Amino acid sequence: MEPLIKSNDLLYCNSLTSYSRRKTIPVKVGDVYIGGDNPIVVQSMTTVDTMDTQGSVEQCIRMIDSGCQLIRITAPSIKEAENLRKIKNELRKRGYQTPLVADIHFTPNAAEIAAKIVEKVRINPGNYADKKKFEVIEYTDESYQEELDRIRERFLPLVKICKEHGTAMRIGTNHGSLSDRIMSRYGDTPLGMVESALEFLRICEDENYHDIVISMKSSNTQVMVQAYRLLVQKLEEGGFKPYPLHLGVTEAGEAEDGRIKSAVGIGTLLEDGLGDTVRVSLTEDPEFEAPVAKALIDRYTNRSRHQEIDVIQDYPIKPFEYTKRSSAEVYNFGDHNVPRVITDISRIEKITEKEMKAVGHFYLPELDKWKMNDQGCDFVYSGSNSIPFMLPNGMKEIQNFEVWDEAPDQKNKFPLFTWGNVQSASVFHEALNFLELLDTEVEEAIPFLQNQTNWVVILKTNNTHAMPALRAAFVKLLKVSCTIPVVVKVSYTDQSADKTMLYAATDVGGLLVDGLGDGIMISMEKEAAHERDEMLEQIKLHNSVSFGVLQAARTRMSKTEYISCPSCGRTLFDLQETTAMIRKRTDHLKGVKIGIMGCIVNGPGEMADADYGYVGSGKGKITLYKGKEVVKRSVPSEKAVDELIEIIREDGQWIEPETI
Ligand code: SF4
Repeated sequence: MEPLIKSNDLLYCNSLTSYSRRKTIPVKVGDVYIGGDNPIVVQSMTTVDTMDTQGSVEQCIRMIDSGCQLIRITAPSIKEAENLRKIKNELRKRGYQTPLVADIHFTPNAAEIAAKIVEKVRINPGNYADKKKFEVIEYTDESYQEELDRIRERFLPLVKICKEHGTAMRIGTNHGSLSDRIMSRYGDTPLGMVESALEFLRICEDENYHDIVISMKSSNTQVMVQAYRLLVQKLEEGGFKPYPLHLGVTEAGEAEDGRIKSAVGIGTLLEDGLGDTVRVSLTEDPEFEAPVAKALIDRYTNRSRHQEIDVIQDYPIKPFEYTKRSSAEVYNFGDHNVPRVITDISRIEKITEKEMKAVGHFYLPELDKWKMNDQGCDFVYSGSNSIPFMLPNGMKEIQNFEVWDEAPDQKNKFPLFTWGNVQSASVFHEALNFLELLDTEVEEAIPFLQNQTNWVVILKTNNTHAMPALRAAFVKLLKVSCTIPVVVKVSYTDQSADKTMLYAATDVGGLLVDGLGDGIMISMEKEAAHERDEMLEQIKLHNSVSFGVLQAARTRMSKTEYISCPSCGRTLFDLQETTAMIRKRTDHLKGVKIGIMGCIVNGPGEMADADYGYVGSGKGKITLYKGKEVVKRSVPSEKAVDELIEIIREDGQWIEPETI
């Protein structure tokens, strides 16, 4: 095995600059292998009631047809575990060999039955042998050991069955459902998540059972990325085998938000060669998940052929905790300012006021006023197509230097220089200038950048291993303590909206989760010419993806965050419909996090850091939460959204929606 990167005593991937997958042991799951030299496996989970055999089979087939190579089905009790046999038999009868995974929470007896039927069992170490009481208990070393002995006794029968039947296992830690024991000792931290899995892993290794895959999921992308990295390091340090990793972000949500959040977490790890199987969890039908996972994975098929990146010695970034790179305040960039959004409109000639709605700014002609929604960009880049009208106060224009140099109003517009023309220029803006730099130009530009007080860098790369190439450029700045603010610019050749979301979320989100970047710009420069309307649609997408990436990386909250579970056989209401209904009434509440969970068994734990929770607690009944505290129980579902809004109102967080 290649040595993992060792820098400042940190080990978590083979290389920070050269793409290579972490070498893991292969784990056999039916006919599919996870890890080793095998391609990354796509998996997903059914949402139909497990007791509905036909419904489950039909859904499995739709999932397989959409590219799913492994299917997880919930088994909340013995009867569902037993019904897995019927589902499996029917699938095999219809010619589908796709391996099945039983999803277990709280019920070891269901796990022991399922392990004799399906090819893999997923256990959650937070609730396999523990009931959550949200208690903080002071453990002595002896009482902690007694707890571990109790877990061993509860868990050992399953390990023996798996070993005997050749059944694989996922030890799947969830940030939101750590046991009281782990919480008491390690807190709600990446280390707690890792230790939660290691408690179970040690028991497996003692029994010489190694058919194990591990996951560290969270709906918080920073925590999720840190936990997986720390897991790899702890496995290495502890002399464990290099077990394959199952990557996922829990409760990512739906549509654009769900895709972006998944890509920020999963993509960041894939960039560093971590991950052997991927599940994207969206609040949508499960057949929509596999194509997203595949689009994320496919980027790495030929990645090892990327252009060389300078090797990093002494890595200055802390991979297990979030630290923002310190940057000086220039105009409204850097330091404590939120990361800025620069939207590229340079392909549109003579843009009109009306068309600025694509970047979140709305002109009201009857009032001759501007309004802005939550995604009103901070700057527009007009290139050589100067904007022919006055902009609202909240938005500024960036022009190519040659255009700005000739402009009658140089004060309210800002010039963009390239490394080629900055050295010969003699006129600059007194408050704010932009310098576009390639990653490969950074070293040469450092003497110029040092101690500048009115410059912002727009950093881009042509390297196909984009995120690590940009990260290496940041490292060069960090090493010389250059604090110039840096906006990350990415551009893609014509591709689907989904791919733009996933790629930008990976390339920029991967930097933001490590505290790198003072802004984002998705450029149009690599796109072919299109009709004006198509280009405006593209601009609208880039603008909203930019805000989505900043939010998913938890660096700028511009909209309400929905932490909705993907639903499964336990779900007590139509999650998609309910999420849409709640979103319709609350999506103007900037920065508020609302958990929407299908069941009371796992929901409260899984919604982790939500401010309010809407949780199914019975047929047609909803329990409402403020943080982790139950505020109203068994509210009839017809009244539950109104009651939720009432709770938000009483908490002083409600604002009336504005109409634009
Ligand atoms: S929270 Fe949602 S996905 Fe998780 S077990 Fe409950 S219904 Fe299933």
